[in-house]
Amino acid sequence: MSFNIAIDGPAGAGKSTIAKKIAAELSFIYVDTGAMYRAMGLLFLRKGIDPKDSAAIEAAALEADVTIGYENGEQQVYLNGENVTASLRNEEVGNMASATSIYPGVRRQLTALQKEMAANQDVVMDGRDIGTAVLPDAQLKIYLTASSHVRAVRRYEELKAKGIEGDLAVIEADIIERDQRDMNREISPLRRAEDAVEVDSSNMTIEEVVETVQRLCKERRGV
Ligand code: C5P
Repeated sequence: MSFNIAIDGPAGAGKSTIAKKIAAELSFIYVDTGAMYRAMGLLFLRKGIDPKDSAAIEAAALEADVTIGYENGEQQVYLNGENVTASLRNEEVGNMASATSIYPGVRRQLTALQKEMAANQDVVMDGRDIGTAVLPDAQLKIYLTASSHVRAVRRYEELKAKGIEGDLAVIEADIIERDQRDMNREISPLRRAEDAVEVDSSNMTIEEVVETVQRLCKERRGV
């Protein structure tokens, strides 16, 4: 049976950084489920669909074939056969993904793919509903969080490193709005699974968070 680690939490808590490091350490596969919702979001943007138009979103989702591959250990996302990985990490696509992840047709398709990936291989999977809906039997569940201010500062620094001057207040407002949407949607809202360990990274370094997760993992695996 495969060993599955689920990492959930709000945007900017550091899930992907931590999940990637843990996966590399354990030689597990890292699955970034947010990227799958982003691929769907990209499709809706390309088609010019209003995210509030549920019928159009559900119809377009039926035509979308999102698949995952790996190149040098890095996850690649394919949308109807096209590698769209490089087009996914921007605010426009992130906001579209967040606004359209509320629809059952979108979630059903992506959740099925995620379950399938974790069934036969050891994975570290991050997202919003992994511990609660996708992998309810995961052997280790982490709920990784941090204050909205700390998350906004991290995002601001990330942009600055890329030479982009962001507005901290706008970034924080955007993060809060996305949290609200993810936590209050009807299907699979973001929440801590009852059996998840909560890790607040507000005052922790990346190394400290990785150490904490590694320790929990060793305990659960009995090694
Ligand atoms: O994590 P990331 O910012 O890439 O996710 C983009 C959006 O996809 C999130 O804001 C969330 O609405 C949605 N998502 C989700 N369930 C997941 C992963 C992401 O609803 N498991």
